[in-house]
Formats: sequence, structure tokens, C-alpha cells
Amino acid sequence: MARRLVEAGVRTVNISLDTLDQAAYAAITNRNFHARAIAGIKAACVAGFESVKLNCVLMKGRTEHEVSDLVDFAHDHGCLLRFIELMPVSTTEVLTADNFLSCGTIQRILADHYGPLVPCPEVRTNGPASYWRIPDRKQLVGFIGAMTNLHFCESCNKLRLTADGKLRPCLGSHMETDLITPLRAGASDDDIARLIADTVDRKPKEHDFRTTYLPGRRMIAIGG
Ligand code: SF4
Repeated sequence: MARRLVEAGVRTVNISLDTLDQAAYAAITNRNFHARAIAGIKAACVAGFESVKLNCVLMKGRTEHEVSDLVDFAHDHGCLLRFIELMPVSTTEVLTADNFLSCGTIQRILADHYGPLVPCPEVRTNGPASYWRIPDRKQLVGFIGAMTNLHFCESCNKLRLTADGKLRPCLGSHMETDLITPLRAGASDDDIARLIADTVDRKPKEHDFRTTYLPGRRMIAIGG
């Protein structure tokens, strides 16, 4: 499947990998697919994508002890690992003081293990991650500090297209533009372009996860 995606023109993929531990993976995902996930990552790494990103959501008590293992796994397979702070996108139950683990804590753990990380502000991907380099390696590690970085949204250029045809300009807002209905009604390319431009115009400046946000669609129904 990875090769077919490359042949179809997909240039990059993001794959969730919150843990390398099989039992923890099953507990987090409610599926015993750890081996399949690892096999899928390995297949993606050799399929010819321009980049394969691994997204690791931080959870206190779960992530700390395997941070360097995850970094080394990404290094060995040539993937770009990003650590992501928990956000209250789908539910308020997961993001609690007991579960929350900050990117800053992970940076300190990595600095203790590898030495001080090297900031790389010049490295930008198509999202709000900030990148740091592991000392004595070319390897970059990304940090998506949605809850602790007060400048998190400043450079965001993200638009998400949901699987049911809605354009969503911000993960932290429930605003969506229905594209599938006008498309099915025969809208022209110009009509759709206007809808997209209008959605971009209304893109929120920042999320309100820290204040008024109420969970809505589950992340799996929004898309990464
Ligand atoms: S503006 Fe919205 S989509 Fe962009 S980084 Fe902030 S929360 Fe995420």
C-alpha cells in the first residue's frame, strides 16, 4: 500500500506512534496492532516518500521513559519524529493534569540523555512544529507544544479536508466549510476556489484550547 500511495503522488505521510511498547500501544489505541504499525512504518520508510513523520502524543507516566528509544527508532529508520502535547480536541477526559506532559519536559529529558538540543528555527514544515537537532547527529526532532507555546499558532498555514468533504481551517475551532455539497451540485472550480479563499480569510488567529474550546468531532474524523 505504501508503494501504491507513492505511485499515486502522495509525497509525505504522518503516522501516529505514541509508544514502542506493545501493551501500551494496545491500551492507547484499543487495538492490538503494534506489530502492524511498526511494519507499516518500515514499509513507508523504504517506499520512496519525501518524508515520513512519526507523531507521538505525550502522556505523563507513559512517554517519559521511552523518549530516547523513540528518538533512536526514528533515527534508525530515517523518520522525522514529532512530540505533540495533548489537546482537548475530541474529549475533555484525556487532557487532565495527571496526563499532561509538556514539550519542555521532553526537551529536558532529551538534553539529559543526548546533551543540549540545538534549536533550528530556520526549519519549517507545513505546520506549527518547532524543530531541534540532536547533538552529534543530523537528526531533527519536532515539538508541537499546542498548550504551552503561547506563539503556537503564529506561523500556522494548515487547512484540513475531512473525509466527509468539509474544509476545516483550524483544529482548535469547529468552523468548517462544506465543499462536498456544492461539488455534488455541480459547482465550478471558481466557485470552489472562492469557498476555499473565504475559509482561509476566516481562519482563526489562534486556538482557544486554553479557554473556551469545547470538544467536538473526534480527531479521527477530522484528519491530521
Ligand atoms: S491556528 Fe489552529 S490549526 Fe493552526 S496551529 Fe493553531 S490550533 Fe492548530
